[in-house]
Amino acid sequence: MIYLDHAATTPVAAEVLDAMLPWFSDDYANPGGIYQSGVKARNVVNRAREQVGALIGAQADEIYFTAGGTEADNWALRAVAESFADKGRHIITTRIEHHAVLHTCAYLEQKGYEITYLDADTDGLVHAEAVERAIRPDTILISVMAANNEIGTIQPIAEIGALAAGRGILFHTDAVQAVGQIPIDVKQMNIDLLSAGAHKIYGPKGVGCLYIRKGLKIGPLLHGGSQERSRRAGTENVPGIVGFGVAAALACRRLAEEQAVGGDPAESDPAAGNLIVGKLPCDMGKIRTLRDHMIRRFETEIPGCRLNGHRDRRLPGNVNLSFEGVEGESLLIRLDMKGICASAGSACTSGSLDPSHVLLAIGLTAAQAREAVRFSLGVENTQEEIDRTVETVKYTVAKLREMKQKGIQRV
Ligand SMILES: *Cc1c(COP(=O)(O)O)cnc(C)c1O
Repeated sequence: MIYLDHAATTPVAAEVLDAMLPWFSDDYANPGGIYQSGVKARNVVNRAREQVGALIGAQADEIYFTAGGTEADNWALRAVAESFADKGRHIITTRIEHHAVLHTCAYLEQKGYEITYLDADTDGLVHAEAVERAIRPDTILISVMAANNEIGTIQPIAEIGALAAGRGILFHTDAVQAVGQIPIDVKQMNIDLLSAGAHKIYGPKGVGCLYIRKGLKIGPLLHGGSQERSRRAGTENVPGIVGFGVAAALACRRLAEEQAVGGDPAESDPAAGNLIVGKLPCDMGKIRTLRDHMIRRFETEIPGCRLNGHRDRRLPGNVNLSFEGVEGESLLIRLDMKGICASAGSACTSGSLDPSHVLLAIGLTAAQAREAVRFSLGVENTQEEIDRTVETVKYTVAKLREMKQKGIQRV
């Protein structure tokens, strides 16, 4: 099997699994226990809090563990809306957000909040000027994702954060896809709230966090015990949290390694994810190289192929392409039969025939959006796998086009 769907989820790293296992068996104590094993569990949860904080430049006590990225997004938006309703009921977000943000916004609209949905340009970029123009006296929150899960475009969140801070408006970013892939610093980028998840960075599913800037007063997500400083009640998912911590530490190491082997730092733009790499082998540099190799081969060897998303401001592992005249779903089914896992748009919408809201928002027609396929690369992928995938896609695209020309409808 060739797995090229890392934007949907990643395999759990061996180090992560090893670290998690004892917390399912020998070390089962409740972190709330006053006895030694309880204290040990509490300490390990707080160690993970430090590791996750370090990945985004936050202090440990600004990290609140949740049951994933979706939960963090729901919490951030709903709690700000509720806690700041006296100040205003207007929220600014974008049309290209994950459904965890968009559907929460739709819920808030039903509750009487007004949402401005910003457009992205044809590269999928949301411009800070557009955010600025949308600000009103009653705007309480700006929520713009750090990087898009479908097309990989990296947003100018440092600029948007500075703008929000200057206007005294809270800034939330869904960084589930960006964390661990590109450098993120919540202080430098003026981020008040940030959502992250473990399973996109080689950690376990069902665990994530919301970073809440110290001093920011928003209500709890769950009422109950005093876990997560009374903001997210419920006995902690100790093995999951331990796994998230180790996954964050590994991601930190990969990012540091990438910076260390980089070329002239003056030429790199970390906010754009454009670190100069390639002098020495490193995981992130390898993924970036494979991505560029794959895009180059597709563009030169398959006619009628278009790259979706920004060419440079792009997540290291994201390759999203449309093959003219070829249904993405048909291509994916045939790739699956050859053991290649890829995706059409986001995992949450594949299986339905609705074209991706992200691709529509960046100006593709519904037909073009249905032609899109996303390959998302990870640390374990090899050049041999990428080349085999390109060959298979090349053959399959030609085959599907030929069948279409001959008028064979069902494929
Ligand atoms: C995966 C993802 C989510 C949802 O995270 P879960 O941990 O799966 O709930 C939210 N936003 C983005 C951008 C994602 O890629």
